[in-house]
Amino acid sequence: MTHEKNSQALDGVKCIVNTCHYHVLGDLCGAKQIEIKPRNASTTEETDCATFRPNEDNTLK
Ligand code: SF4
Repeated sequence: MTHEKNSQALDGVKCIVNTCHYHVLGDLCGAKQIEIKPRNASTTEETDCATFRPNEDNTLK
């Protein structure tokens, strides 16, 4: 699996998770595709992005 960022941010996706490897300036997502889980969620809070990957830089902070 590659963790390359896409050259173009995902259209229509706003993400404020700035600790994610795929997060790009302007609160956008640079992943090629994203997966949201879990199935049968019943609240907004219950859902999350399964594509999230910690930014390598954060381990240095
Ligand atoms: S992969 Fe998920 S958490 Fe990471 S920037 Fe994209 S939408 Fe946000």
